[in-house]
Amino acid sequence: MPAHDGRTFTVNEPHTGRPLAQVAQGGSADVEMALAAATRAWDGGRGRWPTTSATQRGRVLHRVAMLLRERAEEIAVLEARNGGKPINGARWEVEACASTFEYYAGAANKHLGEVAPVGKPGLALVLREPIGICALIVPWNFPLMIAGWKVAPALACGNPIVLKPASYTPLTALVLGEILVEAGVPEDAVSVVPGPGASIGDALVSDARVSKISFTGETATGVGILQSSAPNIARVALELGGKSACIVFADADLERCVDAMPGAVFDNAGQDCCARARILVERGVYDEFVAAFATKTAAIRVGHPLDEATEMGPLISDKQRQSVTGYVDLGVGEGARIVTGGTRPSDASLAAGSYLTPCVLADVDNRMRVAREEIFGPVAAVIPFDDEHHAIELANDSIYGLSGSLWTGDLGRALRVARGVRTGVISVNSNSSVHQEAPFGGYKLSGLGRELGMHAMAAYTEVKTMFLSSE
Ligand code: NDP
Repeated sequence: MPAHDGRTFTVNEPHTGRPLAQVAQGGSADVEMALAAATRAWDGGRGRWPTTSATQRGRVLHRVAMLLRERAEEIAVLEARNGGKPINGARWEVEACASTFEYYAGAANKHLGEVAPVGKPGLALVLREPIGICALIVPWNFPLMIAGWKVAPALACGNPIVLKPASYTPLTALVLGEILVEAGVPEDAVSVVPGPGASIGDALVSDARVSKISFTGETATGVGILQSSAPNIARVALELGGKSACIVFADADLERCVDAMPGAVFDNAGQDCCARARILVERGVYDEFVAAFATKTAAIRVGHPLDEATEMGPLISDKQRQSVTGYVDLGVGEGARIVTGGTRPSDASLAAGSYLTPCVLADVDNRMRVAREEIFGPVAAVIPFDDEHHAIELANDSIYGLSGSLWTGDLGRALRVARGVRTGVISVNSNSSVHQEAPFGGYKLSGLGRELGMHAMAAYTEVKTMFLSSE
């Protein structure tokens, strides 16, 4: 529906930098309408979403997965154009979202309670109940997938939701809203409200009717959300920034590691909270690694998001491109060496878009700003290290603690280093970070709480202890 005051905002296409769509711009009246609907869904008694059986909720979520797959190509094209991601990455994202709905469809009626062996005669039942109205706020880098990580478990647990997409990328969230209702989620239980985070996002997170907030975005925004929601003691989950390290030991299978490395840093043009933006390499293989990695990086096909051959599209906006370029210049000023990339591509057909070639910065010192701050773009900082202890020290010398990886042929070392690195996710001889069946989230300033897996079901429920006396 249109916004209450009829306002709209323009959504651009990163390939051209020109308008792609006009979208209704939610304001305070629209947030009020969404929260009033969610309150009706929550308080409305029998027949509403929270009292719908878990089995039936699961069936509805299965239909959501099916409808996402039926419309997969249309949604992927929309996401590729709106977010600038390569069409194959966009297809992968739609499928990831569908399979998250499938996972939580199955989980809905398998989230069991407990019976506690208490001292008094009777039964102490530990029940899992829906938590209440959920405000779900997502960023622009993986708009549909991250929406799925929040919406699917929230609905599986019986909660009404209000979804606020990022202003750069609201389009697929609106399609998801249509699909949720078509699949059978009652209209009152689901609202999608696009609009500026600073106003409507804040109105949502500070509203006393909201019991649960799940936010993915910048650490500074997450801190503000904690503050705004504190008076209501809302349950808050935060997935925030990262500056993840990939540690490469000299005894690793270097060929496999180098093959896997470009994807780990440059997928989604590096706009990925899990991007292995710091690559720590043992000195003995440092030069060999830098040379091989730079060759692979220079071969990445930068191009139009809808071209099947494209491996890296434009950044989300020209502002983001300028910010990333600023970091490349800063790194050089701090003493880093550009081995490849960091410039606009020479292809004239890409001149209007926010394109940048993937950049490898070598000889980075972990104290440099390019090693400490989240650049959120296609820039890899390669840093040498001396030994195992030094590698762990460098990996942990960060305000962030989201993800990481290590490559070694020594199992004992793999276990020691994986335990020593303070991150919520770590992979050994792989750079994969996210599995919908396993918890995902960060240590330190990278977040609070976990998404995915059955941990998310726990996070969208409250625990009630009910004692039944047998006396
Ligand atoms: P932002 O924090 O700027 O925005 C994220 C979302 O929050 C957007 O929907 C935004 O709306 C909204 N928002 C902005 N201000 C407020 C506010 N005051 N109150 C409530 N909501 C608000 O992050 P980005 O969109 O720039 O996303 C990039 C960041 O996300 C990176 O730091 C990245 O690391 C992180 N991220 C973390 C992940 C994780 O799992 N840990 C995964 C993916 C990304 P609007 O768009 O209208 O401003």
